[in-house]
Amino acid sequence: MTPFTTRRRFIEITPFAGMALLAACSPKTEPAPPAPPASPANIAPPPPAPTPAPASAPTASATPAPMVNEKDAQAMALGYVDDASRADIVKFKNFVANSTCNNCALYQGKAGEASGPCPIFASKQVAAKGWCSSWVKKA
Ligand code: SF4
Repeated sequence: MTPFTTRRRFIEITPFAGMALLAACSPKTEPAPPAPPASPANIAPPPPAPTPAPASAPTASATPAPMVNEKDAQAMALGYVDDASRADIVKFKNFVANSTCNNCALYQGKAGEASGPCPIFASKQVAAKGWCSSWVKKA
């Protein structure tokens, strides 16, 4: 083999040898696996719906509050009576003619009802035509 042939042969094989060398030295990177397709098996189920309260549950307004008893200590101290015509106007000088619970600023009963709540007597009802010494004219 002549030097020319050897040199020619070297030039012919050098590009292929370089490519093979590059391929051998380059890192092997594989593509990420594709995401699994969406199917009913891999979709999270929706959260459960809240359970509605039973229709027959008792409410706070179902049972009316008891009436204030005139003999209760607080009622006696305030001169409460369930009929303003019986108010002790001698003891309670602040009595105003025609004053009753239903025209008192503190009365929370509805118009036309015989009784309603009053914050002076918590959790109890007072008579619409009642009276006590805490009466304040309704504006
Ligand atoms: S504060 Fe008013 S509504 Fe309450 S008991 Fe006395 S008069 Fe009646």
